Amino acid sequence: MRYYTCDNCGKDLSKTDSLRYTVTIHIQPNLTAPPMESEDLAEDSIGAFADMLADDETPLEIELPKAHTLELDLCPHCQSRFLADPLGRENRKIRFSSN
Ligand SMILES: [Zn+2]
Repeated sequence: MRYYTCDNCGKDLSKTDSLRYTVTIHIQPNLTAPPMESEDLAEDSIGAFADMLADDETPLEIELPKAHTLELDLCPHCQSRFLADPLGRENRKIRFSSN
């Protein structure tokens, strides 16, 4: 029998009546270039690009940032909390005392 626990709170999710949610997060670099503005096409930029192309020491291969995939098992309670605040912003808010 495979043993599952909630990756957030540690609750045992192996029982047949336990509802388990699987969260798959795929993080990949977005390599789409932002649209160019007319200032981007200034002569200095074009000249610098031409210099880079003419430079024999410029590497032809560029190492691209890697993608990552995470898979989490969550109990119903933690799944609800995750959906409400996927980045955990509420936990990072600074709380001031009322004194
Ligand atoms: Zn949980």
